[in-house]
Amino acid sequence: MKKIYLDSASTTQIRTEVIQEMTKILSEDYGNPSSTHSFGRNAKSILELSRKTIAKQLNCSSQEIIFTSCGTESNNWILRSVVKDLRVKRIITSKIEHHAVLHTVQALQEEYGIQVDYVAIKSNGEIDITDLVELLAQDKKTLVSLMHVNNEIGTVLDLDRVGRICQQHNAIFHSDTVQSVGKTEIDLATIPVDFIVASAHKFHGPKGVGFAFVRKKSGLRPLFYGGEQEKGLRPGTEGVHQIVGMAKALDLSYGNLVKERQQISDLKTYLIRRLEIEFPEFKINGNQDGFYTVLNVLLPVPEDKTAMILFYLDMKGIALSRGSACQSGSISPSHVLEEMLSQEDLLKPSLRISFSHYNTEEDIDALMEALKSI
Ligand code: PLP
Repeated sequence: MKKIYLDSASTTQIRTEVIQEMTKILSEDYGNPSSTHSFGRNAKSILELSRKTIAKQLNCSSQEIIFTSCGTESNNWILRSVVKDLRVKRIITSKIEHHAVLHTVQALQEEYGIQVDYVAIKSNGEIDITDLVELLAQDKKTLVSLMHVNNEIGTVLDLDRVGRICQQHNAIFHSDTVQSVGKTEIDLATIPVDFIVASAHKFHGPKGVGFAFVRKKSGLRPLFYGGEQEKGLRPGTEGVHQIVGMAKALDLSYGNLVKERQQISDLKTYLIRRLEIEFPEFKINGNQDGFYTVLNVLLPVPEDKTAMILFYLDMKGIALSRGSACQSGSISPSHVLEEMLSQEDLLKPSLRISFSHYNTEEDIDALMEALKSI
């Protein structure tokens, strides 16, 4: 049975060139970058080259890239340090953030008694910017944390616009860009954002490595303490092969972006067309013009099929999700869809189909055949 992977928002297939690069480092360049001998110096220069590669793609200084283990760690670190060390008294965020932000903000609220305000979400899943501006009118030291591309419904935030609004109100701006880094251009020299985060496994790199962009003179302090790695901001011996794999994956993603974005966008259009024919009553959860890598749809099939639909597709070798991967084992509705759908629609099956350049029209055809036979 041919297996079909339509869950690239959860994680992506690693590129062959990335594996080759990582294998070389693992076997040949095993020095500890903190050692002063030639092995260490070699590892250190490889590490710094990776940092430069990443910084170049995002148009920032390499000093502003801090390597971490994943998107979750980067989000936790930034949010916590902004409250603890920069003494922010209030966070404005949204109820449709990834749990790596949402649960961290809730924990900080309990621990530090900070004020948390959730900006209104429009029915198409977009952030209500007018509400954000109204919330920012309060005179309190504030952090705004809003994601760039939503991992479940693919709605896109205008980073530049929100960054400027934050600047006008003297608010610090953090954006969880885990779903967009490597998949759309991000120019950090022009976008007024203080912190963004990325995770290599979302752009065809290895798992267990990510980075944070921390704008110069941020005042951030480490989450935990140890050696001097990453200027003391993120101690612990660096996973050089992981970092090299991440830099290679990002370089390839941006090098192929124009071609792969077109290919994936065409696939998404193809899927929508097929759904219009086979399931004319289907609805798109989120914005019609959402991000090209994700499509979240509500299917007009009986409610009693909701619980078994993913299982059924899995039996047919088709992998996709109902929401974010961390929740996909749960049958409770996604916290993102809960913010947007009626109680009636929440009971119906919604599917998140997410693509990569490895997908083909045949994958979509197989999905449609499987869905028709439910
Ligand atoms: N933020 C978003 C938007 C995500 O989609 C994910 C992954 O699902 C994360 C954060 C967490 O990233 P990681 O798996 O690297 O911890």
